[in-house]
Order: sequence, then structure tokens, then C-alpha cells
Amino acid sequence: MLAAKEGDTDAVHLLLEKGAKTTLVTGSGHSAYDIAIFWKKENCAKILKPIHDALPKENFFSYSGIQRNARKRHNLEWMREATMSDAAEFILMHNAQPLVAYDSTLSPKAKIRQRPLLFNKPYTEVHHLIKESFDNVIYLGSWTQDASERKKGESLAERNVFAIDISDMRETEVKELYPGTEVLNVFPGLLRLGVADAGIAAQARSLLDWHSKYPYCPCCGSKTTIANAGYKRICTNKSCLTNQETKQEGGKINTPYPRVDPTVICNIVSRDNRYSLLARQKSFPGGMYSCLAGFVEPGESVEQACKREIFEEVGLIVNHDEIEDARWFTREDVVLMLMQLHPDRLFLPPQKAIANRLLTEWLIKTAFIQ
Ligand SMILES: [Zn+2]
Repeated sequence: MLAAKEGDTDAVHLLLEKGAKTTLVTGSGHSAYDIAIFWKKENCAKILKPIHDALPKENFFSYSGIQRNARKRHNLEWMREATMSDAAEFILMHNAQPLVAYDSTLSPKAKIRQRPLLFNKPYTEVHHLIKESFDNVIYLGSWTQDASERKKGESLAERNVFAIDISDMRETEVKELYPGTEVLNVFPGLLRLGVADAGIAAQARSLLDWHSKYPYCPCCGSKTTIANAGYKRICTNKSCLTNQETKQEGGKINTPYPRVDPTVICNIVSRDNRYSLLARQKSFPGGMYSCLAGFVEPGESVEQACKREIFEEVGLIVNHDEIEDARWFTREDVVLMLMQLHPDRLFLPPQKAIANRLLTEWLIKTAFIQ
């Protein structure tokens, strides 16, 4: 880090030869490459760039290393067989929160600093948790080669991953059944997971949360049941189902599919790239500013949603119902906020948040603009 800051290319080369870890980051999440860029040490940045580019580019929660194999979902027989295979692994979800494990030899203090791992077990250890109806199991997909490489070369090929919903159990029962585990809270718990674990936890959480909230048919109010390995719900009222399948009643199909809520988030910058427009919501922790974000409305494009959000939230009149403050920040301000060194104790969302990533990428891509 120091060599990158000083622009000492000899020292950078020597450290790399000696095996220095370029993936290490400062307390504020910045790599040696980021530091070289910030201090405008172009020669060091050039050396460190290939390593920087090889780092994961996905947003946190959007990388899962999972091939979803959607065609297999409709085949319940395949699903039953696949779950009983030696190549099946299961994560457990309690109220849409994953069960995680830590190294049991660690003290409670050390545990806080350790990365939790998804509690991941074969069929033989979890089969008693699967209901006969199979309506508490969802199929997430099979591991990809890329995931295998990221998980320290573990051979994961052809391994299918399922999630079991164990919300019927009390949390204390779960802990008794699997000592050394705990149900991971959503925030900040999920942000502490590794990137591959976070992706599949997000996939499972989103699906199971949807199942828990949509137990009734939107056409007739009858109960619905899980289908397509967790990616659909169908009505238990046969006449209603027939109507849906034959597209009667005006061709409307109200089969419930997993809920997806598109949102936009944007970094508004000045024409000369010297300023970024950031805002804070009333609900933010004191001192935190972020990029503008909001939901995409029906019939609206992503670009239209961005424009509307900007106008509504920080247009001629700041919407004080949602936004407490919005203003232009200089690049220097944004760097200090990212590094948690701002003199007014202002800061940005954590490193794994999309806003943090947007602003970091902006600073890097425009670092050499005069
Ligand atoms: Zn119905």
C-alpha cells in the first residue's frame, strides 16, 4: 500500500515477487491499486491493474456460482431423486434467514471477526427436515466451475444445491439439533458472508420470503401450493386452475410467480466529473449519504425511472418526506467519505453496497481527468 502511494515501482515489483497479497484492502476497503490511482501514481497503477481487473466484478448478492437449470424444475421425480443423491447439498433457512456455522474452537470475541459459512449438509444429515409433500424444499441449481475455483479448488462439479425451509422449528430447537450454528440476521449478517455464499443465500431468501407471503390464489382466494421446485405457486381450486391453464376469463393468468421488484440507483455527476450528487434519507444512520435510488414503476424504462427519481427527490424542491438533505460533493469529499476520514464525519454505505461500488468505480475511471 505504501509503495503504491509513494509510486515506488521497484518496491511494488519486489513485493509482488515475494508474494505480497494484492487482494488485501485497507480498513476502508481500498486495494493497493485503488491507492495508486488515488495518489495518481500511474506507473504503479499499471503494474497493479491486471490483478485488480481479475478480482470479482459482480455486485455482492448477484454472484452465486450457480447454474440454475430451469428446465429441470418442473420434474418432481427428478427433484426427489436428485435430493437423495450423494451429489446433493442442502442449506437451511429459518424465516428466510440462513443457518450458518463458525469454527467451534473460536472464542465468542474471535467469532465476530470470522466469516460465517453457510451450514451446508448432505441428504443423510437433513432428510428428516424434508416434508413428505416436498413443499419446504426449493432447488437453487448446480455449482459452476467458476464457483469451484473460487471455493479454493473444491470439486463441486455436478453438485446440486437445495434450500430447506425450517421455519416451523423454533430457533432454540435448531441450535440444539445443530450445535455451533446460528440463524444469521439480515443486516449486517448477510454482508459478512463470502460472495458465493451471499449469492445463494439471497436467492433462497428471496424465494422463501415470497412463498411465506403468498399462500393464497390472487384469482379465487383458495390456498396455493409450491410448484416448479419453488419457482411457482399453483391454485388448489381445480376449476380456478383450469381457467388459468386454458386462459379463460379474458385470457388473464394469475399464476403467482416469484416477486421481483426492479429498482434503480444512479450516481449523478457534474458534466466535468468533479462533483457527485448525494442525498441522505431520514432513516439513514447520522452522517451517511448515498446515491439516489428508487423503484421502477409499471410501464417505465430504467432511464425514465432514474429521471423521475432525481426530479422527485432532489428536483426543484427536495422531497422532505423521504430525503433529509441532498447536495453536490467534490471528488475529494467522496474519497474522504469512502475512507471514513471526512472531517465532518460524513460517510457512504458499506463497501458491499451498490452505491459504494458506483462511487468507487467513478473515482477510479475518472482519476486521471484534469
Ligand atoms: Zn385460484
